[in-house]
Amino acid sequence: MIPNQTTPKSNMKKINDKLSPEQKLVLFEEGTERAGSSNLNNEKRKGSYYCVNCGIKLFDSNAKYESGSGWPSFYESLPEVFETKTDYLLGYPRTEYHCKNCGGHHGHIFEDGPAPTGKRYCNNGVCLIFKEKSE
Ligand SMILES: [Zn+2]
Repeated sequence: MIPNQTTPKSNMKKINDKLSPEQKLVLFEEGTERAGSSNLNNEKRKGSYYCVNCGIKLFDSNAKYESGSGWPSFYESLPEVFETKTDYLLGYPRTEYHCKNCGGHHGHIFEDGPAPTGKRYCNNGVCLIFKEKSE
C-alpha cells in the first residue's frame, strides 16, 4: 500500500515553465509591468480572467472597469482566490495580493475603487489570461 501523499497548498510555488521572463519577474519577484503595456487594458468582452501560472479563475469581466491607471482594474475578485500581505517597497504600506493556489503575485489593492466595494484590484496584465464567454 502506498500511503496517500498530501502536499500543503499554501507557500508552495509551482512555476509553470511556459511563463515568459517578464511573467516570472512579476509573479515571483514582485515585479510590475510597465503602465499601459497590457492589451487587457482595453479588453471589454464578457468572460473570465485566469491566473496565467496555475489556471484558476480569479476575476469575472463584470467586475472590470477603466481606472485610468494603465493596468487592468477590477472592483472585486472571485471569493477566496487571493491572499494578501503588506509591502513597503515604495516606503509606505501597500496591500499586495497573491494567487492562493500557486502563490503568484498579481498586483495591489487600493481603496479608491468604485461602488459597490470601493476597492481597486490593480492587476498586472501579464499575470492574467482572458477567456471570452462562449454563448
Ligand atoms: Zn495562480
